[in-house]
Amino acid sequence: MSILTVGSVAYDDIITPYDKRSRALGGSATYFAIAAQHFHQISLVAVIGEDFNYADEKLLIDKKIDLLGLEKVAGRCFYWKGEYLANWNDRVTHDTQLNVFESFKPKVPDSYRDLPYVFLGNIHPSLQTEVLKQMNGRPKIVALDTMNLWIKETRSDLLETLKGVDVLLVNDSEAQMLSGEHNLMDAARTIAKMGPTTLCIKQGEHGALLVQNDQIFTAPAYPLCTVVDPTGAGDTFAGGFMGYLASTGNLSFENMKRAVIYGSVMGSFTVESFSVDRVAAITREDIDARYNEFVKLTHFHK
Ligand code: AMP
Repeated sequence: MSILTVGSVAYDDIITPYDKRSRALGGSATYFAIAAQHFHQISLVAVIGEDFNYADEKLLIDKKIDLLGLEKVAGRCFYWKGEYLANWNDRVTHDTQLNVFESFKPKVPDSYRDLPYVFLGNIHPSLQTEVLKQMNGRPKIVALDTMNLWIKETRSDLLETLKGVDVLLVNDSEAQMLSGEHNLMDAARTIAKMGPTTLCIKQGEHGALLVQNDQIFTAPAYPLCTVVDPTGAGDTFAGGFMGYLASTGNLSFENMKRAVIYGSVMGSFTVESFSVDRVAAITREDIDARYNEFVKLTHFHK
């Protein structure tokens, strides 16, 4: 049983302190799908324009991503231009052009409506809700990613979407902004009242934090990779996290801890190249080898 995902499929112009790349294949759904397909079948709901390259479509096909829900319409693909500042952590958005997403009404194919795993990738919350509404009943697990733009500009839409969400994956400033709480444990308690009873906070080079009721798990980031472009680290983290959960069918907190490590592994591969280059090229053996390194890195005797 596949994972349904909705989100952006985009072309990005990226500037880093050392290099730049134009028209890099990006988008929240693209990064998620390319990462998660290493673990499980993916069914994509998104929209592309006439400028979507055949080579990029072929990559999705070669990765056996189900594209029945990928609409191709007149117009141009979603476009985003971002720049990383010298500290690599601060990112400036220079341009966002919704293009074909402006009039996008997600249509969930009939064959996707009973899927048990749903990942609502970063996109306008009303589109995320539209997907949830078309599902037959409540899926086994719904996870959601969002960003400061939607928390600020479309808060009431987002609060509506969150009512149907189990796991929220955001960074610490987004969790603080959404909850109005500085302390992340207080933020988790406030967010649980909005819907998501599990909060997974991606902290970039500082790792990740998982909170569910009074259970907490903290994981470091992989310290040994070379950062070329941090774009997509959050979406591929979500891909590793959801992909692993779906591949095991086990939603216990213990298993979510392993999923967080698989998420960190996928994020660490993503930042080693522009676009999805690295995360598309790796094998499941590469992923498991890095997972095992994580186990060694975090293991100590009492
Ligand atoms: P991340 O680095 O994980 O935050 O994801 C970056 C990806 O998100 C890029 O490939 C962008 O194309 C995409 N993106 C940027 N802004 C938005 C937005 N407002 N809505 C949807 N996707 C976006």
